[in-house]
Amino acid sequence: MNKEVNEGESKPFIYDYTLEQIQDWVKEHDEAAFRAGQIFDWLYVKRVVSFEEMTNLPASLRDKLNDSFRFVTLNEITKLNSKDGTVKFLFGLHDNHAIETVIMRHNYGNSVCVTTQVGCRVGCTFCASTLGGLKRDLTAGEIVAQVVQSQRVLDAEGQRVSSIVIMGTGEPFENYEATMTFLRLMIHPKGLNIGARHITVSTSGIVPNMIRFADEGTQINLAISIHAPNDTLRSKLMPVNRRFPFADVINACHYYIEKTGRRITFEYALIGGVNDRPEHAEELATVLQGMLCHVNLIPVNYVPERDYVRTPRDDIFEFQRILQKRNVNVTIRREQGHDIAAACGQLRAKHMETTTG
Ligand code: SF4
Repeated sequence: MNKEVNEGESKPFIYDYTLEQIQDWVKEHDEAAFRAGQIFDWLYVKRVVSFEEMTNLPASLRDKLNDSFRFVTLNEITKLNSKDGTVKFLFGLHDNHAIETVIMRHNYGNSVCVTTQVGCRVGCTFCASTLGGLKRDLTAGEIVAQVVQSQRVLDAEGQRVSSIVIMGTGEPFENYEATMTFLRLMIHPKGLNIGARHITVSTSGIVPNMIRFADEGTQINLAISIHAPNDTLRSKLMPVNRRFPFADVINACHYYIEKTGRRITFEYALIGGVNDRPEHAEELATVLQGMLCHVNLIPVNYVPERDYVRTPRDDIFEFQRILQKRNVNVTIRREQGHDIAAACGQLRAKHMETTTG
């Protein structure tokens, strides 16, 4: 184990700390209370990359910060720019793991798709992220840093991160505490101040934490990776369905809607010949009809390790038409960054191949 890893493990990451925790730290170190606000401002508003740059702090305080915290930003291993403006990063962590983050451009602004775990243990059969299993959870700060670093890239263009989607690698509700700390930091008015309604958490259906999330009382959006209209097919595509069956997931969705009054999104990856037939659309419509929801159809990207094929264009439109006819809100997700392997986990999978030989 090299020195950098030892050092990385012994000190907390400054972005793991909430404003309240920085306030406590400042107090414990006999510094004036207003210093906490200044530190937070340097982190989130001025977005410096070292404590040395926090020039309105006394040198002695900067030394204390250096002694107490790690301030490594994520190490950019790869940055790919797509023709459509999508930017995809492969970031290295202090322990040599790699994670993906994506900036996407929309007509309503820029969104960042973040990763919450190194790998994933949920095992969805259409997903490259799960192939190597779960390596570890990310800390809140490692999730925060993905957005801060994306914002630094956008700063150069005079633009800002206007929305966040937690749809990268990992199951956020299996790393619940870190995800919630991250979310609180993102919506903090003295930080990046991103509106809760502009943030979406996507889960494969970890029912107890869906309930917990509904009870949090935030206005953050919830998306469910549903991908099948019934238990049998969903269990084949998503082993997590054996732990949390289809009906329980749908009931938890009703609970979220009832508690928050917010519309829920269902992500449905269309896989040729598997879950994309008209009867699947009819069955899905029966489950969702009358619910305050929206369905996002996602034609699957080819994952070389699986033998799934893409749904033909006409069949995608037919699936959409059936849902529409039954008054279920539905759109087809616009593909972004297709020329730079933007499908979740593909860049990291390639990196793992090259680093593990
Ligand atoms: S789709 Fe999401 S939850 Fe499923 S294996 Fe991939 S990263 Fe995990």
